[in-house]
Amino acid sequence: MKYFLLASLFFVGALALPAEDVKSLSDFQAAADNANEVLVIPQWPKTPVEIRGEIDNAIAKANAGLDTIGKQDLSKVTLESTIGALDHIQNDAQIAISKTVVVQQTNQDAAMRDAAEKAIKVFQDWAVGVDYREDVYKAVKAYADTRPKLEGEDALLLEHTLRDYRRAGLALPPDKRAEVEKLRKELAKLETDFQSNIIAVKVPVTFTKEELEGVPATVLDSPGVKTGDNTYTILANVTFQYNTVEETAKKEETRKHLHLVRDNLASDKNVPLLNNILAHRNQLALKLGYKSWDDFQTEIKMAKSGAAAKTFINDLVAGIQPKFEAEVAELRKLKAEETNDPNAQINIWDWRYFQNQLKKSKYTFDTEALRVYFPFQHVLEGMFDIYQDIFGLKFTKILAPYKWVDDLQLYMVTDAASGQPLGMFYLDMFPRDGKFNHFAEFGIIPGTKLPDGKYQRPTVALLCNFPPPSKDKPSLLSHSDVETLFHEFGHALHAIVTQAKYVRFSGTNVPADFVEAPSQMLQNWVWNKKVLDTFAADYRNPSKKISAETIAKMKEAKLATVGVFYRRQFTFGDIDLTLHDVHPEGQPYDCVSMSTPMFAKDFFPNNDTAFVAFWGHLVGYDAGYYGYAWADAIAADMATVFEKAPNGFLDKTAGMKLRQEIYAPGGSREIDTSIRNFLGRERSIQPFLKTLGIDKPAEAKGGPSKEGDTGAAKPPTKP
Ligand SMILES: [Zn+2]
Repeated sequence: MKYFLLASLFFVGALALPAEDVKSLSDFQAAADNANEVLVIPQWPKTPVEIRGEIDNAIAKANAGLDTIGKQDLSKVTLESTIGALDHIQNDAQIAISKTVVVQQTNQDAAMRDAAEKAIKVFQDWAVGVDYREDVYKAVKAYADTRPKLEGEDALLLEHTLRDYRRAGLALPPDKRAEVEKLRKELAKLETDFQSNIIAVKVPVTFTKEELEGVPATVLDSPGVKTGDNTYTILANVTFQYNTVEETAKKEETRKHLHLVRDNLASDKNVPLLNNILAHRNQLALKLGYKSWDDFQTEIKMAKSGAAAKTFINDLVAGIQPKFEAEVAELRKLKAEETNDPNAQINIWDWRYFQNQLKKSKYTFDTEALRVYFPFQHVLEGMFDIYQDIFGLKFTKILAPYKWVDDLQLYMVTDAASGQPLGMFYLDMFPRDGKFNHFAEFGIIPGTKLPDGKYQRPTVALLCNFPPPSKDKPSLLSHSDVETLFHEFGHALHAIVTQAKYVRFSGTNVPADFVEAPSQMLQNWVWNKKVLDTFAADYRNPSKKISAETIAKMKEAKLATVGVFYRRQFTFGDIDLTLHDVHPEGQPYDCVSMSTPMFAKDFFPNNDTAFVAFWGHLVGYDAGYYGYAWADAIAADMATVFEKAPNGFLDKTAGMKLRQEIYAPGGSREIDTSIRNFLGRERSIQPFLKTLGIDKPAEAKGGPSKEGDTGAAKPPTKP
């Protein structure tokens, strides 16, 4: 911490607080007591033995709690003794496992990380069995059978708990349930094999220097690539190598050859495996009373049915057709010029290369040169100022009694008006060996009302990997890093300002096709000059701001390729939904012949390939890939509330509305209600199309516009 603050003090003149002014948790205790809250800094395990001990204790405590639920007199069941008790058990278990996950992702000691990894495995194995505790299910069922008159979050808790049991097969007769359990276990094993095959496959492709004309030294000189006098070995399975060759290799034959290898990776093993996986999923869905796996998967999301998700994707495919065509025409012009062939066509192995040519020739600005405007500490404080202001919050740095790394920071979030403490966040911002290597928000303590009536305020951690400061320079972020920071911090606020009563609905526990939307919306902030001018300034000369011209150019460059980008995304969404659509039981699957035509329909023909064999999203995001675009569409819609507000993205009224209508309720009410309250109208797909450069309200329709949500499946009868 010290090193970093000193660096930023020196370079950007930020004020570091003298040590004696740093607050601690105790400074907020009186306010927390006043608000009837529990506010504690997590206690971290310090040794491998403690890690395992915490998980063992958490499991033992949860088992005892489950026993109590299961053993009770079924004629005296109450909300508190059944679904309420289950939620409290989840709270304790979640804190233990979340801390273990953070240790595994951050600890500097490999032995600690290993112990955490083992403990997580133990926990996961245990957690699977919780669903199948017949005694607990009977108690919940007995409570549901009393037909309690519940409202709001309580009613939703009962509904969701029963829904989970039904989805696990508990509502079925014992023989059918056993079949479901067996299918689930087999499916899990097949899915693990599918993923392992993707990780294990390694296909080297050799080229001569001439064949790789145009490919930069970053690839040619990287370890293992030059394997002979004039032999270069490209690994088709290494995404960075593949993408760079496809973007830069001047010879079409090279791009084509590598593409065909790439889109056939793992096909020998994974094509039959995927066919088997699809058959298992279909069987499971049918046994559980659904028409298809996509209906099963989307039931618990905003889309609610496979048909609604598919309508959404199809409408978007049609909606961006003019933009897609225009972009392809532009790429074709470049290819015609380069090849002297007036009839040149863009193939699936061409778009990356000609997009890159387009960017180089038409949208020349140096993204690296922008970094001087984004010294880390200044960006962080600038973002804090904006979020504190629009959301009515105050962030105060406090002492962390335990730090897993020296530059770890801990902040208290309070309500600016009342001073009520709302929660805490850790910031662990720079890369190091053995640390989680992406950018993400991790929950640690969830917000929830405890059995004694006190509210437990949340704690989260942001784990990021921004460029570290060097000897002569502070950490300088790229524009995309700044966008990521605004995005991830949005998740943190979503978790911290929660008012949900139950863990199940607290913070970011919202449908999976919505959870990214508020954060994706916040990415708009860093494309706005008024916002950027509040903090982005050349660290060597803070009077220098990013020019309006540069921002306009950046936007233009982004817009120049969105048509192709989204059509590719929609193709993936379409393939995923098609594979998981209605399918007669017992009829074999042919995943390749089901998916390949989608490329020709929505993108570019992709013949003689088996793309799906190397597509890891088919496990985990199965019948869920559409959700990326779905959340994008809602994000664009939600952004209009700020765009239309008097103060734009810095508007406090709009900010407070987001806090109250989206962040605070979390999943404790239907997400559609929250969105409608925030928008002040039904949702619409138009703003999203507008961000794609299409502004023709009369033509486009469809979900996630509420009006377009036809075809919602009837959920199977509840037990
Ligand atoms: Zn996110």
